[in-house]
Amino acid sequence: MSRFVVIAEARDGDYRPSTYELLAQARRLAGSLGGEVAALTLGDDAGLRDRLSGLAHRVISIGGAGLAPYSADGWVAALGSALDALPARGAAPQVILFGESPRTREVLPRVAARLGAYAATNAVDLFEDGGRLLLRRPVYGGKAYAVHEIGAGRVLAAFRPHAFGADAPAGLPTAFEEVAAPATESRVTVLSSEAGAARTVDLTEANVVVAGGRGMKGPDNFHLLQELADALEGAVGYSRAVVDAGQAEHAQQVGKSGKTVSPTLYVAAGISGAIHHIMGMDTAKVVVAINTDPSAPIFGYADYGIVGDALQVLPALTEEIRRG
Ligand SMILES: Cc1cc2nc3c(=O)[nH]c(=O)nc-3n(C[C@H](O)[C@H](O)[C@H](O)COP(=O)(O)OP(=O)(O)OC[C@H]3O[C@@H](n4cnc5c(N)ncnc54)[C@H](O)[C@@H]3O)c2cc1C
Repeated sequence: MSRFVVIAEARDGDYRPSTYELLAQARRLAGSLGGEVAALTLGDDAGLRDRLSGLAHRVISIGGAGLAPYSADGWVAALGSALDALPARGAAPQVILFGESPRTREVLPRVAARLGAYAATNAVDLFEDGGRLLLRRPVYGGKAYAVHEIGAGRVLAAFRPHAFGADAPAGLPTAFEEVAAPATESRVTVLSSEAGAARTVDLTEANVVVAGGRGMKGPDNFHLLQELADALEGAVGYSRAVVDAGQAEHAQQVGKSGKTVSPTLYVAAGISGAIHHIMGMDTAKVVVAINTDPSAPIFGYADYGIVGDALQVLPALTEEIRRG
């Protein structure tokens, strides 16, 4: 029985980091609760599958037209039929784990509806307690957490990047299997894909995010954010006030109507800490806030607060970090 199935999403010549993190947590849970771990891959990742060797008991690859280039219709049909067929292949899954991503947002709800399965998105933990399998996700804009007990029936759940460490013991004997996706007529044809402005670190997967708000006083000072991010090998994000002012791309906005990030370190410079911003970063492990106003709400969420001018504090931090 495959109690845990991880959807392995390939991108830029490797699987997304969340694939390895989810497989590691599935192995930990299978170790304590029993059951097998399976990875399900889709599309043109033939050259990559060896990377999953030892990380799951079985790697099931779905091939066929309509999967690459990606189309939501193709993926929904392929995942729906593959997951439906798993019990007959001796692999009845209880939890199907996805990494949060734009594709997951398109595909997961449709597959769950098709399978009549329970769906949970934006989850931050999947853990065992007294033999029970529990899932944790933020609710009410991050003001509280709901803990769900996973019982009988299938659950499709999407987890934020960095929800789990990827360093669980591996070395499982892995069986590789292939299945064919059903022929599907896609209602949308992707004509071309254009890369956005080159960024070295993906905001949603970055381990460190340095974010700036209105208090940065405009684009002339944004290099201060980039320099600190570069020193920490992180990515730069912005509040909506900055994006609405046309000073940064929406792709770099953190918050309710932007990206959700879950880095190890989040530096908020000149950001007041409105709830809509907090909703996008409240699972960051350590938050450092820099603000001139000691009563700014961001300090209520910060582990470390610096009351001061971000335009002076940021270069001082960068210099200190470069010095090592
Ligand atoms: C439906 C909805 C969705 C939204 N979605 C988002 C979202 O996704 N992301 C988001 O960010 N917002 C979102 N908002 C907007 C949000 O409510 C806030 O208006 C926004 O986050 C404020 O941005 P800010 O903190 O940069 O600006 P402000 O609130 O103007 O704060 C600027 C801060 O900078 C400080 N400051 C000033 N000068 C300095 C200095 N020299 N050094 C240090 N600090 C200084 C000030 O004390 C202040 O705290 C949304 C709002 C709505 C209604």
